[in-house]
Amino acid sequence: MKWIITALICLTSSINSMAIAAETKHPNIIYIIGDGMGPAYTTAYRYFADNPATKTVESTIFDQLLTGMASTYPDDDTYVTDSAAAATALATGTKSYNGAIAMDHEKQHLTTLFEHAKAAHFNTGVVVTSQINHATPASFLSHNESRRNYDDIADSYIHNTVKGRQIADLMFGGGQQYFIRPNRNLVQEFNNLDYQYQSDINDLHKFTRLPALGLFAAKGLPPALGSEHPTRLNQMTHKALQLLTQEKTPFVLLIEASQIDWCGHSNDISCAMAEMDDLAATVTQVKQYIDKHPNTLMVMTADHSTGGLTLGSQNKYLWQGPILKQVKLMPAALAEMMQKQPDHAYQIWHNNTGIKLTDIAQASLTKLSAEPDPELLTHFIKTKIDQATLTGWTTKGHTAIDVQVFAYGVEADKFSGHMTNSDIAQRLFKLVQ
Ligand SMILES: [Zn+2]
Repeated sequence: MKWIITALICLTSSINSMAIAAETKHPNIIYIIGDGMGPAYTTAYRYFADNPATKTVESTIFDQLLTGMASTYPDDDTYVTDSAAAATALATGTKSYNGAIAMDHEKQHLTTLFEHAKAAHFNTGVVVTSQINHATPASFLSHNESRRNYDDIADSYIHNTVKGRQIADLMFGGGQQYFIRPNRNLVQEFNNLDYQYQSDINDLHKFTRLPALGLFAAKGLPPALGSEHPTRLNQMTHKALQLLTQEKTPFVLLIEASQIDWCGHSNDISCAMAEMDDLAATVTQVKQYIDKHPNTLMVMTADHSTGGLTLGSQNKYLWQGPILKQVKLMPAALAEMMQKQPDHAYQIWHNNTGIKLTDIAQASLTKLSAEPDPELLTHFIKTKIDQATLTGWTTKGHTAIDVQVFAYGVEADKFSGHMTNSDIAQRLFKLVQ
């Protein structure tokens, strides 16, 4: 009888401790932001990626993971947010003014998801294709009254600590010029704090452990289109997940496809599709990771939409997205090639875009290629690509339309329906307490 009671007590206590362990096991959080990625971008990507050999339009990874929509208005009367105010809402759960980096109107610090996570002993990482002190990552790691204070924000990555530790255990992206300055070498300071450092994306494999700092360009990374590393976000994410996973501590990883926004600002659809392709590969990888590590949540959204992109123009019921697969170079790179050989401008154009031009347009191309300023030629190239694909834009800035929310993995059902951007952070806070 005695052994039965002892066994029962042991059994009960081990069940209890198992239950407690299961309750307190924090999930990993992978938070993905497509900067500027309004619904027109994921729609465009579906038709861009469509296999013309099949009758059906294949669904994309974005279609498969869609769960809701989010409004993005900032805390003022504009309805149109900038990246800083949106990232502040997405990072802190509180809306603020345009330009704010995790600060409210009274210039008070708003605690960020990463700060909450660090206090709960999570490891943290950011992987971006902009400079790592750009508005979105900065709103998770820093507090500043203005996104433009780049040096200040970079400095704060050393100074801002929770429990004596820097806020990010891993940072991959660009920004060497802000971290190695004539008056201060932050890379050396991170080295002194035991961070491994690499400056060449080809050396990603040399990272063996956290903490890790990778600055792979002076500012943002080269654009995906025409790059030696067209899926650099996916590559950096692969390494980040490997380093974070081997620690066996829950983690929060922020991944930003930063340059979708930059393509939108310059009204460049071929640039945007190349960035979307890198993001699609990244999200596919993250989904596969979650299938192997089920106690992980992925939430993805956009901070706003950029450029007022739309699919269809010139009063025609047609969008010719698949043409964009033949565009091999960024318009500025194409312009540079043409200016070196203005007599062969059309040949260069055709080889790199596959798009035929009228005789009048060919003559304009040759004429613009002979001019010293590349600005008009670059604009002409983008216009001709828009005309061939029937792509439309309403602005060089941001728009107020809602963005999509995507979720996968543990707790994904908490991110369905309509929400506003700050709700996303508030729901994530509950998972890092
Ligand atoms: Zn943005």
